[in-house]
Amino acid sequence: MNKPVILVVEDDVPVRNLMRTTLKTHDYKYLTAPTGKEAVMLASSHNPDVVFLDLGLPDMDGVEVIRQIRSWSNMPIIVISARSEDEDKITALDAGADDYLVKPFSVDELLARLRVTIRRLSIMNTRSSTDSSVYTNGILKIDYAAGCASLNGEEIKLTPIEFKLLCLLAQNTGKVLTHTFITQHIWGRSWDNDIASLRVFMVTLRKKLESYPDAPEFIQTHVGIGYRMLKVE
Ligand code: CA
Repeated sequence: MNKPVILVVEDDVPVRNLMRTTLKTHDYKYLTAPTGKEAVMLASSHNPDVVFLDLGLPDMDGVEVIRQIRSWSNMPIIVISARSEDEDKITALDAGADDYLVKPFSVDELLARLRVTIRRLSIMNTRSSTDSSVYTNGILKIDYAAGCASLNGEEIKLTPIEFKLLCLLAQNTGKVLTHTFITQHIWGRSWDNDIASLRVFMVTLRKKLESYPDAPEFIQTHVGIGYRMLKVE
């Protein structure tokens, strides 16, 4: 992959400068937009690799920017929000954002999120060029076609729902999936009951998957928001 191009959408000048300096120092290429309208324009004209998007923009809601970009592109979008309420993050994730960062954030955190996202991009690129029916992540292997998963070559005995859940997380490795997104994909609906059942299924899935369910290596919990499959080194 060539040097990734990052689009920074932020109306707050000091924050924008901080991000610009950080990206420059770490040898990323970048573009900046102070408004939603410019963001959508630059996203379509320059096709950046990753977008950092502030949710509170002067001309439109960041969620609207996500919807517009998603109408033609799957480029990773990392939401940056001063709003710490889970509701905003969930709305942004359900609109198609990949990840989120809460202001004030540290430069290290910003760079870490960026690395995770770029790694995910390269996984997506390799996947499309190779056999896509087998998923490998560390010692975890999923054979989608055969409908089975294994750890270190040893089959994991999963119920159909656990398997479906594992596949959904695996197919979205690196991306935060909200409770609503997951339950809609697994049960075709999202009631409070389903979200409660999801928690129960996650507990049993983790027991089978993780060596230390209390310090999970594969599936990360985002309290009040959802879950994410991590790429294991
Ligand atoms: Ca703002």
